[in-house]
Amino acid sequence: MSLNRAISLLYDLHPGTTKAEDGAPPHERPHKPLLLLAVLDLIDEGRATPNRIPWCQELRDRFSARFLLVRKHNDQNTPENPFFYLQTQGFWEAWIEDGSRQIPLQTTPLVRQMGKVFARFTNGIEHLAALPDARDAMREALLSRYFPQLRAIEGMEDEAPAADRAAIAADEGANEQTEYGRSPAFRRLILDIYDHQCAACGLRIRLSAGNNVSFIDAAHLIPFAQSHNDHPTNGLALCKNHHWAMDRDIIAPCPDLRWHVSPLIDPRRSNGEQELHELAGKSLLLPKDPAFHPDEEGLRWRCGKLSA
Ligand SMILES: [Zn+2]
Repeated sequence: MSLNRAISLLYDLHPGTTKAEDGAPPHERPHKPLLLLAVLDLIDEGRATPNRIPWCQELRDRFSARFLLVRKHNDQNTPENPFFYLQTQGFWEAWIEDGSRQIPLQTTPLVRQMGKVFARFTNGIEHLAALPDARDAMREALLSRYFPQLRAIEGMEDEAPAADRAAIAADEGANEQTEYGRSPAFRRLILDIYDHQCAACGLRIRLSAGNNVSFIDAAHLIPFAQSHNDHPTNGLALCKNHHWAMDRDIIAPCPDLRWHVSPLIDPRRSNGEQELHELAGKSLLLPKDPAFHPDEEGLRWRCGKLSA
């Protein structure tokens, strides 16, 4: 398995989203990526190997330490859930030892089963997880995708690690411009969430199976180089035209969830400018799941850059 493929899998953990309730906005559950971060810690420390990840107190403690920083609303501190449910991702198996036999774990493990329950990476990820550089890249991907707010706390604010730069370089070939998405994983995620539809004009052109031939780009609201934020709420699917116009601050998505257009645009000058002008006041075309709607901070940032 290539590192890029592994990062794609990590970007696509389907952690589940909440509904809006008791006035709290919907959000993605943090459990699966938190457990994987805890596992990478244990492997770094020699307390686990990719082929034997014990269900143990150290794992629970590392899960809880980050959980307390990122929990939202009614999230529960339950590392046993992802320990079991990560098995649906196709790269994780959980087992229990019964005498000399190992049998597949049938349900979430209990605290009293520590010492008997363990998990392992499969499907090729186990080879990557054995390599310190690949573990760093995987940790970096998990933080950028799920918990960009933790980067500062974990002391990785300033540097883009080597693996990150490699991902950028690899992406340039497919995507032309680095700022148009750090990684193929972000692009796939955004196109999937937006169902390949431009959030400005609604254009959807998809030539065949696979995202690489889509006409639609994955745009960051606050550029990745500045934010290191690959969370889908920092993204937007846009056609080439509207991506171009947004990146030149001619159009901007604003916190009122409508498009705003720079007064520099003169609709009398050309059909092209008239079309951009007509976007003013139109609603953003957003994904169905409100947990993935653009966040206020990114919209404010874009809106503030609109050329006056
Ligand atoms: Zn468009």
